[in-house]
Amino acid sequence: MRNLLSLLTPKTCFNPRLDPSLGLAYECAKTICILVVLSLPCLPQVTINDVSRLNPVKVRQVISVTDIEQIKQAMKIAAERHWKLSIAGKRHSQGEHTAVRDGVVLDMTTFNRILKLDRSSKIITVESGTTWAQIQDYVNPFGLALEVQQSSNIFTVGGSLSVNAHGRDPRFGPVIETVRGFRLLRADGTVVNVSRTGNDSALFSLVIGGYGLFGVILDVDLQLTENDVYKKRCARLSYKSYPEYFTKKVQHSPAIGLHYARASISRFDYLQRMLVCSFEKTGQRPAGVFHLMHEAHIERNRRLVEMSRKSQPGKDVLWLLQETFADNPVTTVISRNNAMRPEVAFLEYSSPRDTDILQEYFVPIPRFTAFMDAIREIFLRNKVNLLNLTVRYVPKNTESFLSYSRQDSFAIVLYINQPLSDAGKAHAIEYTRELTEAVLQNGGTYYLPYQLYAAPSQLRAAYPQFDEFLSRKREYDPQELFDSGFHEHYRAGK
Ligand SMILES: Cc1cc2nc3c(=O)[nH]c(=O)nc-3n(C[C@H](O)[C@H](O)[C@H](O)COP(=O)(O)OP(=O)(O)OC[C@H]3O[C@@H](n4cnc5c(N)ncnc54)[C@H](O)[C@@H]3O)c2cc1C
Repeated sequence: MRNLLSLLTPKTCFNPRLDPSLGLAYECAKTICILVVLSLPCLPQVTINDVSRLNPVKVRQVISVTDIEQIKQAMKIAAERHWKLSIAGKRHSQGEHTAVRDGVVLDMTTFNRILKLDRSSKIITVESGTTWAQIQDYVNPFGLALEVQQSSNIFTVGGSLSVNAHGRDPRFGPVIETVRGFRLLRADGTVVNVSRTGNDSALFSLVIGGYGLFGVILDVDLQLTENDVYKKRCARLSYKSYPEYFTKKVQHSPAIGLHYARASISRFDYLQRMLVCSFEKTGQRPAGVFHLMHEAHIERNRRLVEMSRKSQPGKDVLWLLQETFADNPVTTVISRNNAMRPEVAFLEYSSPRDTDILQEYFVPIPRFTAFMDAIREIFLRNKVNLLNLTVRYVPKNTESFLSYSRQDSFAIVLYINQPLSDAGKAHAIEYTRELTEAVLQNGGTYYLPYQLYAAPSQLRAAYPQFDEFLSRKREYDPQELFDSGFHEHYRAGK
């Protein structure tokens, strides 16, 4: 019986590859399907997880939606039955942000049409399940590019707005800077236009960086920019020289469109030597520079990362190769769109024993060296299996209510391998709390889309506005229809 019911899931009914030329009949069938499935007295449970595979959650159902009516229907039924509703994009956030136990999950990845491109104002309107990759494919022929996007283009617009993601362009802070407005479906079923200046302007700062707790972002107006061409140059530095190098050569240079740095994971200069890369505007236009590139050498790169996961010599070799080849051509000429589609498929990993997780800390520029010293000490003492450490710059922007960029900061992104066992998790909690303490002592903060390892008191020290954020959520959503494991965990102040 349970298997039979599983077949009836809305995901099956609403396969977007079904022929929509059936028109009204198709739309009705989809809506009826949601009604039928959610109305079943004993819904089958499904277990879903995020990309880290560390957070399995049993939910009543995952509903793939393609239009607003379906979202409204799902919300109505969930509200009537006092079920919680979570909203999911690509589920790359790693701390139960997209599901809650016994809840219903709205899968937004099929709500992904590009609605409009105004080439004169360079504003694109897209549904929130659209990915950055889709937008790049669409705007590249028009010589346009995104202003802010994470290091990779695999994420949805809705998921990126909800964490207020940041990227590698030092001229921009978080993605909120590039949002002109959006439509939001609120818990009471009303659709509101949200912008910085309209009637619902308070929701602009609550929803962006609001982790899906204030409603469903429907469609979004995003500012685009020119698809510039850059010359990429990399330099080797000691981590102690990096802050000065950055403030003198990068921070206020309008010609630099992208910038990142990487610290060594080799035992010979662990977290001391850095490779620092900037992409500077050039007038050169080599043949084919605007053709969108696709990831190559996936298997080879996967094997190299695997080697580094398993041993220190593997890490030494990987760093040597990175320094010598990957990040160290004398110069490369590359378009903005291509530079904003870095390779990621080789990072996909599915061992039954261990997994890779991300963490990110924001530290004021003058405290960078001290915080790097703290990471090195904590990681060596705790034998943390660090696979990569990159640094980006996030200038101050406090528009989002739950803003993390409250001052000009370096964002330090850690890519760590962790066992899937309980002991592995306990160990990770221990060193994460040490790192969080260290960043707080250095006047910084940490990023919320990752594991729920920070203590509630640490979260509140990093985000003193958090309890006010929760009470604003209750104002807009008194029954707390929109919920997640992240919200449950920290709401209780555990
Ligand atoms: C490999 C990797 C690299 C990363 N690099 C960066 C980086 O460079 N910079 C950076 O800032 N972050 C980075 N991140 C974090 C990433 O930006 C977030 O995890 C982001 O949320 C992922 O988007 P998603 O589509 O997977 O969203 P999900 O994880 O599915 O959702 C994230 C949040 O958005 C909410 N949400 C999703 N869609 C909607 C909607 N339509 N309406 C309302 N709420 C919604 C969800 O409820 C959830 O709270 C990285 C993560 C990974 C795994």
